[in-house]
Amino acid sequence: MVEEKKCIICESLDTELKYKDYPGYIENTFYDILKCRVCGSHYINTEKIDSKIYSRIYSSEDLDGYDRYYKYAKNLKGFEDPLKYLAMNESIYYFIYKYVENINRTVNILEVGCGYGYLTYSLNKIGLNATGLDVAKPAIDFAKEHFGDYYNCSSIELFAKETGNKYDLIISTEVIEHTPNPKIFINQLLSLLNDNGKVLLTTPNKDYFSDDALWVSTKPPVHTMWLTKKSIVKLATGMGLSFKLHSYRKDYYPKFENQLIRYFRFRKEPNLEHIVDGNGQILNKVLANDGKLYVFIKKLFFENSTIRNICNFIYNKFLSDDITLSFELWKKSSKML
Ligand SMILES: [Zn+2]
Repeated sequence: MVEEKKCIICESLDTELKYKDYPGYIENTFYDILKCRVCGSHYINTEKIDSKIYSRIYSSEDLDGYDRYYKYAKNLKGFEDPLKYLAMNESIYYFIYKYVENINRTVNILEVGCGYGYLTYSLNKIGLNATGLDVAKPAIDFAKEHFGDYYNCSSIELFAKETGNKYDLIISTEVIEHTPNPKIFINQLLSLLNDNGKVLLTTPNKDYFSDDALWVSTKPPVHTMWLTKKSIVKLATGMGLSFKLHSYRKDYYPKFENQLIRYFRFRKEPNLEHIVDGNGQILNKVLANDGKLYVFIKKLFFENSTIRNICNFIYNKFLSDDITLSFELWKKSSKML
């Protein structure tokens, strides 16, 4: 069974079992978490993920970790520049906001894994031409109803087969960590990319946490991997792609990323609860267990930009890393976009 031991990111055989039978997102499911000693990635081995799980996630307004996406989708139409609103909240959108600032307005953009569709909408709102793609029907139904006809409901495999289109820019925020295999996913993106195009990706940054942190990430198989900067370098070079990692932590303090508070809170042991039962009912006790002090501090942080900026300044000066890995990939033969 050598194949199973191979790191799905860098293909090194120097891997170890980090945690046996870690509780999965769905009740009574368990996954072995593996760690690669070379690239530092944590991951599970899985071949296919039932897309029904995303229909469940996007049918709910208050699932931990996804509730904020619903809030963005609900709130953003009230803002004149919705992309700026998103950028002020999270660095994943700041990356996109900065990236498209001076981009040619004629580029053809595809957002893969658009969820409720608010980023695709925001890009169109500032005069770009963007199409959103997602496998979750409730999310696409929401997007079409609220934002217009910019969306397709399909898996990327099917979309790549059926569409005749190629794109100049493919954006996929917080999606790669949901796929069974990062290389297959990136190849699917590349199959939809013009020769001179770029792919922009974001994913949670494992380097942000301590080395022994255990899956401070959405439970498997909703998240299948937890990547480091080295993972990205290994992935890109292993696939013969050019890449650039971006970083914003030095001068930008988004509302959602209460860095110092998160740093202290997430150093604890992992949460061993499942999130939903087999029928999709929420079991999540994480939110219910939030202490009053934490809720108070969080509120203070969200509502007071001075406190937030001081916290983030301290965090970024003395502690580790960006909370999100933001990077671009392009084919070596390509002329820069
Ligand atoms: Zn590896």
